[in-house]
Amino acid sequence: MSECLFCRIVAGEIPSTVLRETDQTVAFRDVAPQAPVHVLVVPRRHLTDVADLTSDAGLLHAVVSEAAEVARDEGLDGGWRLTFNTGADAGQTVFHVHAHVLGGTAMGRLA
Ligand code: AMP
Ligand code: ZN
Repeated sequence: MSECLFCRIVAGEIPSTVLRETDQTVAFRDVAPQAPVHVLVVPRRHLTDVADLTSDAGLLHAVVSEAAEVARDEGLDGGWRLTFNTGADAGQTVFHVHAHVLGGTAMGRLA
């Protein structure tokens, strides 16, 4: 059994609120939302972070496309943020790459 939390969510071994699934990706609600809408999009394949994900252009495209679909499904017409925390200094805590889709409120600029 994998010790990776998100591999286990992808495998259905740990429950989550799944919104969308494709053959390459799973999108589920963050358990500790930081905004009214906070959804994580992960590739089924285990890759560590977004730098690692660039090794597979098709999969990178699949993750970002699903993030856009989540934003559309959730009605984030006013805008949304896509975040890949990368490495400990950026606050990454789960080392299976995931895109945070954040929205539903006005957010302060980070950069
Ligand atoms: P990061 O800090 O960028 O690695 O993001 C990890 C995210 O995973 C955090 O926002 C957590 O709230 C979220 N998280 C941790 N455990 C779970 C879980 N079992 N189901 C859904 N989201 C989770
Ligand atoms: Zn994993």
